[in-house]
Amino acid sequence: MKSEKLRITSQRDVILDELRSVKTHPTADELYEQVRRRLPRVSLATVYRNLEWLSEQGLAQKIEVGGRQKRFDGDISEHYHVRCSKCGRVADVEMDMLDGIEERIAQCCGFTVTGHRIEFTGLCPACSNGSAC
Ligand code: ZN
Ligand code: MN
Repeated sequence: MKSEKLRITSQRDVILDELRSVKTHPTADELYEQVRRRLPRVSLATVYRNLEWLSEQGLAQKIEVGGRQKRFDGDISEHYHVRCSKCGRVADVEMDMLDGIEERIAQCCGFTVTGHRIEFTGLCPACSNGSAC
């Protein structure tokens, strides 16, 4: 049963659709530029507010990467990310989630662990080749 709160408006639909169409983990500003092509009158504030809402509802993932602008991911499956420390770009890591890690944290810290995030850092292919990206 869908609650009233979870009903997606058409504007939100477009924003989520655009977010899901890219693998780049865009910032709100980047997604705004993209969404504007379909919704010329949309404001950055609307895109931002909807991204926050979609994240709260579990329909998108908010990636808070090392002190920079928040990025968003339309892929809500559990997966790890790798961030380029030079240009800030974020890519998916194609590997299985580490097994047993949450149980170990629960044992050592007494927390009820509900999930984990691991962010790898390094240089993306473009940055390690010394070319601009
Ligand atoms: Zn880079
Ligand atoms: Mn991702």
